[in-house]
Amino acid sequence: MNLSYERIELIPKYVFRTARTTSTTSESVIVRLSDGKIEGLGEADPSRFYGETADTVVAFLERMRPRIEHAKHESELMAELTSRGGTDDPAARAALEIAAHDMIGKRCGRPLYRFLGLNPTEAPVTMMSIGLDEPDVMLRKAMEASGFPMLKIKLDASTDLSIVSVIKEATGAAITVDANCSWSPAGAIERINVLAGIGVELVEQPVAADDIDGLRLVRYHTSVPIFADESCPTSAEIPIVADAVNGIVIKLMKCGGIVEAVKMAKMARKRGLKTMIGCMIESSLAITAAAHIAPLMDYADLDSGLLLKNDPFVGVDIDCGKMTLPKEPGLGVHPAAP
Ligand SMILES: [Mg+2]
Repeated sequence: MNLSYERIELIPKYVFRTARTTSTTSESVIVRLSDGKIEGLGEADPSRFYGETADTVVAFLERMRPRIEHAKHESELMAELTSRGGTDDPAARAALEIAAHDMIGKRCGRPLYRFLGLNPTEAPVTMMSIGLDEPDVMLRKAMEASGFPMLKIKLDASTDLSIVSVIKEATGAAITVDANCSWSPAGAIERINVLAGIGVELVEQPVAADDIDGLRLVRYHTSVPIFADESCPTSAEIPIVADAVNGIVIKLMKCGGIVEAVKMAKMARKRGLKTMIGCMIESSLAITAAAHIAPLMDYADLDSGLLLKNDPFVGVDIDCGKMTLPKEPGLGVHPAAP
């Protein structure tokens, strides 16, 4: 098989700020695998928080190149990727694995969701994220997204919680909150008890990623479901966080691909945990890959393609949160018209 890739700059429409990061642009790597007849598309959206940059993605792809070029079929590459183990280079592995899945779907003439035995009409609606900003800007962004039945509001330790009730009243949307690790356990309990009064649906990652005892404390002193995101990159962390939270956030770019994401969803369900499929700053290519497995999830946050100024791909269609997947074989993703 042949490997080629291209580094691209994804530019968000607005500077996207969370308690952890501020993003003006984000460098991604688009991967193409080909056997001469069928081409598979993949995307890596590396995050420094999980130890990756576009440079480490490219280094990983070059390390894998001899094995990719030696493989006759994408299934050989899949076997190689899934048997590697380890948790390094998750976005780079995800890019190859997504491209291999695209090829598999195209080879058997089925959309990826059908190949995986999933019914796309069972996917939850996707929420839209409102980044951290001045309260008037956050309200304006929320109003612009008011067709969405659910909004995710990013908060940090300095945000006045009244913005949450202001947005809820102005839009009528269901509200989730993501603190991105920014609260102390005591501060989280205090804030989430206020958020409970506002009717917030769930709170993501209130405390530091490695503070599992803190998560557990928050869970047992509040009535709002608590989700682990940064605390739960892969299935290996599920047993560690299982009794400390009510749900987990699954992302292709932190877990390493579709096989691991499906494993996480099934494992979480078995342990009585709810699931959310989320994203980094990703184009519609990686977002569409995630949308194919959304039927396995309770919640979806796959808004990143909508937040880009220069989305280079078209795939899943999102209308007021409702996701409609292409019916073509594989991912069903194409380059956007120039
Ligand atoms: Mg999060």
